[in-house]
Amino acid sequence: MTDRWDVYPHDPNVVGIRKGTDSDAYQSLLINGHIDVAQVEEGEAWISNPFEPILTEDKLIGRGAADMKAGLACALFAIQLLTEAGIRLPGDLIFQSVIGEEVGEAGTLECCERGYTADFAIVVDTSDLHIQGQGGVITGWVTIKSPTTHHDATRRNMIHAGGGLRGASAIEKMMKLIQGLQELEREWAITKLYPGLPPGSNTINPAVIEGGRHPAFIADECRLWITVHFYPNETHEAVVREIEEHLLAVAQGDVWLRDHPPQFTWGGRSMIEDRGEIFPALEVDPSHSGVRLLQEMHTGVTGESAIVDVSPTVTDGGWLGHFGIPTVIYGPGQLRHAHAVNEEVEIEQLLRFTKVMIHMIHQWCHTKKEKTG
Ligand SMILES: [Zn+2]
Repeated sequence: MTDRWDVYPHDPNVVGIRKGTDSDAYQSLLINGHIDVAQVEEGEAWISNPFEPILTEDKLIGRGAADMKAGLACALFAIQLLTEAGIRLPGDLIFQSVIGEEVGEAGTLECCERGYTADFAIVVDTSDLHIQGQGGVITGWVTIKSPTTHHDATRRNMIHAGGGLRGASAIEKMMKLIQGLQELEREWAITKLYPGLPPGSNTINPAVIEGGRHPAFIADECRLWITVHFYPNETHEAVVREIEEHLLAVAQGDVWLRDHPPQFTWGGRSMIEDRGEIFPALEVDPSHSGVRLLQEMHTGVTGESAIVDVSPTVTDGGWLGHFGIPTVIYGPGQLRHAHAVNEEVEIEQLLRFTKVMIHMIHQWCHTKKEKTG
């Protein structure tokens, strides 16, 4: 059965569900991948039309080759081959093609909200066939707003002795909060660590600043757009709380901010529509039976032991994990090719990935559910 719905007009998620013959007793598998690709910019030196893939002796070249049309296509092909071989799986198999991952859109989030779940999930995004978790990312807006708007000519009264006008430039006050964020970022770098990620990967980037209205006025509003990276064992909720508490404490130390504390808006369901996004972190449990089976299947096909590590980027895997599904990232292609001009993927790796997926789907959906409780 196929479930298809528009996340945005003419921009649908598509979920294929193959009900198992004994769903209650056997493990279910969810395969997820995004169908959108990184933007192609004017003037990029592509050797061919980026949207018409070309084959060389050992590579496939085209936009989305590594990130991640190949992963999606190979996973679908694996399912097709199993079907053509007449194999009926006892456990459920769910395949999700989602929109909007590149711009933080809620394709996978909507699948989760619609109730799709499984005993194990594989996000077949770019991982060079490593089994990966990820840190998380959340964007947020810090806003300083003055209840009153003052003319530029009153600045003298606002900042000098005897002026008598209590007010502030929201832009100047934002400087204190930016300094506060830098101090918190440094504190995090020194006190938090996660194996497999370089120390200090947990950054707070003051990415965009907007404020003021006209040179004839004192800036009565300033908005700072920040990008926060956090570790796989942290939640965005906890990280947001830490930042808010810290900035409110900084505000307490300022005579004007104390009475006009900053306001916060976190995340969003699209960088385009909401100017905000959340990629929850994903921690991989190496002892989970799904992870162990995937390692085994990988070794069986490639003759090499599977590397379990942490992706230096983010994928939709965080959302599946956030909704309680044990999840890993495992897909073909290298990150250095993702989003690159003449994006490429090795054909040999696609073959290996497809074989691993055939074995994984077959074995996992033939595995009895673990008894709980
Ligand atoms: Zn991707």
